[in-house]
Amino acid sequence: SIPLGYFGGIGAASRRGILFKGSNYLDAITHIDAVVFDKTGTLTCGVFRVQEVHPSGGLTADELVAWAAAAESGSNHPIARAVGEYAKQQAITLPAVRNTEERAGLGLRAMTGRGELLVGKAALLAQNQVAYPEDILHIPDTIVVVALDGRYAGYLLLADEPKPDASRAVATLHGLGIRNLCILSGDKSALVGKLAGQLGISRYFGDLMPEDKVRHIEEFQTEEHARVAFVGDGLNDAPVLAASKVGIAMGGLGSDVAIEAADIILQTDQPSKIAEAIRIGRRTRAVVW
Ligand code: ADP
Ligand code: MG
Repeated sequence: SIPLGYFGGIGAASRRGILFKGSNYLDAITHIDAVVFDKTGTLTCGVFRVQEVHPSGGLTADELVAWAAAAESGSNHPIARAVGEYAKQQAITLPAVRNTEERAGLGLRAMTGRGELLVGKAALLAQNQVAYPEDILHIPDTIVVVALDGRYAGYLLLADEPKPDASRAVATLHGLGIRNLCILSGDKSALVGKLAGQLGISRYFGDLMPEDKVRHIEEFQTEEHARVAFVGDGLNDAPVLAASKVGIAMGGLGSDVAIEAADIILQTDQPSKIAEAIRIGRRTRAVVW
């Protein structure tokens, strides 16, 4: 039987927008000694804006945006929404594409009347044997690279902002004695490092595929004996949520799959709610025991 105190804890948490899937997680979260964050949409707002358009290979800027947006219309990633929004603002007509496929953490592939279209990170082009200028790898911002019919066609540069609540999340966790914090991201290492520096998080890994994130979590949990809570916005995060001791999904932006895989759901997209969840867990434990 479940001690009555747990129901009080779950109720108190739910009134604060923190949904525990069971009383066992209220207990589990009190044992957490490391918190691992996803970046995009978790520590950042996840609202990108297209800042620059750099066409190549004879395309105009509008043509590059049109191809990118045509492929991105098949995705609900924050990057995809930004590209679509920009094309709409510029009143650019999108060419027809078919058989659009999204590869989690990489980008999209679609067929067009002009050949195969690739839209995403440089690694997507590399995997499809499409050459691109080496220097785009050193751009310290989020970029969306485009290739058409086996040829590099340019890139769009986007910007996203840290959430105002992200610093508070770090401070409140430190306040609870949880100093083992880490960021795992599919975005570029240099960019992830910049954010980690701004937030005072000393450990970070970038350029990760969804399966690399799972491997990192498993390593922390086995080699360092850390009891890890992973917090993600949900996009591409279901496997990591499942692998971590406690999986926490942001409900607002999160996908149904992530909400399914998570143990705790934060209804507001505030990472500082994690510290609040731990505090409620600790208080409940004190009452129950
Ligand atoms: P994070 O780990 O920071 O939350 P994601 O796993 O969502 O980031 O995505 C990792 C990277 O994969 C992005 O930074 C982007 O370069 C690329 N990517 C993923 N989905 C898309 C998409 N729909 N369009 C373009 N690029 C994408
Ligand atoms: Mg994400």
